[in-house]
Amino acid sequence: MSGEPAVERAKRLKYDPYLQVKKRIEMLESEGHPTDKIELRVVGGTWSFYPQKYQAWFVKRCFDACNNGHAMSFKTSHVQNEKARYRIVGLSVETRPDFITPSEIKRLRKLGVTMVELGVQSIYDDILKKNLRGHGVKETISATKLLKDAGFKVLYQMMPNLYGSSSARDLKMFKTLFTDSRFQPDLLKIYPCALLKSAPLFHVWRKGGYRPYAEKQLISLVRAIKKTVPYYVRIQRIARDIPSKSIAAGPAKISNLRQLVGGHCKCIRCREVKGNYDPKEKLYLFRQNYQASSGQEIFLSFENKNRSKLYSLLRFRITSQNTAIIREIHTYGQLQPIAQDQDVGGFASNISPQHKGLGKKLIAEAEKISRREFKVKKIAVISGVGARRYYRKLEYKLEKTYMVKNLG
Ligand SMILES: [Zn+2]
Repeated sequence: MSGEPAVERAKRLKYDPYLQVKKRIEMLESEGHPTDKIELRVVGGTWSFYPQKYQAWFVKRCFDACNNGHAMSFKTSHVQNEKARYRIVGLSVETRPDFITPSEIKRLRKLGVTMVELGVQSIYDDILKKNLRGHGVKETISATKLLKDAGFKVLYQMMPNLYGSSSARDLKMFKTLFTDSRFQPDLLKIYPCALLKSAPLFHVWRKGGYRPYAEKQLISLVRAIKKTVPYYVRIQRIARDIPSKSIAAGPAKISNLRQLVGGHCKCIRCREVKGNYDPKEKLYLFRQNYQASSGQEIFLSFENKNRSKLYSLLRFRITSQNTAIIREIHTYGQLQPIAQDQDVGGFASNISPQHKGLGKKLIAEAEKISRREFKVKKIAVISGVGARRYYRKLEYKLEKTYMVKNLG
């Protein structure tokens, strides 16, 4: 969407992702952030709308930027990235649920995509229809299953306050996301409907047919939504960056909604260990099973006793075809800048020995569960290209676009 900071940055650089990625890395380094592992997010609307050739060129240029080179082929840019200084360990794109098909999934994997942001907006057909979304709930259900079975992380963009909904129905919708196994997104973005002066809804509003929620109403709705979110979900974002001058009325004008809502919830983001890292903390292994899209999801994590601090997580899936696939591994609080002073630079691990290798321990646990409980002979990881080397050390081999290990 035009007007968002990331898109504005891209425009200034004439959409050359090579320069854009380079500039972004420079910026992060100057701010003292570690940059050896890059999570790349391609923004700018529906990815699948762009011609396939353009998509491949665009992604290759991102890899080239991280490799500090100009590879001859797309494949070479991937191979180079395995040993590059800036390794792309995650790549996400935004698309619509109705664009996700088996052949689209194959293409996304070839590009190296590991996470898909779906513009779900609502799980009610009448609301989707009223708001001219152009897809129904069954497309969301089908896309979610296809993506999860292929190992992708799935993010839902949800939109409270759509035309025809109410705050009670919105809350019910979020509860359903985590009680109905056909949904169960891994990550969530909550974008309250913005009444744009350029949108058809503007005319409905002028005639009195639509009313944005009052600020207080929206804040209490989002607070209630946060209470419904389980331990295995990350609330990635609340509210979208849209310049308030293009919004006619309503709470979408509030740019600091997340801060106004405040408060910690059970979500991953609220529990990730950061500055509150304690080298002496005793960690516990947690396991949660839940049904999702006709498969079994297993969420493993190392956390402190009351689960307020999350150190490491792994999510994997036993599909309806009884195959095992690891969809996410993430360890938090591992690297701290040596000093804030830019002249000194560099990073050091201040991790205590008892907290070392948490990711490896979770992988071993996932392998054990797959072998013993599900009698699975093989386990796969949807690895970001830049993380492949890590799995090679753990006896995983590249098979098509996945890292695979025999559990024999
Ligand atoms: Zn949270």
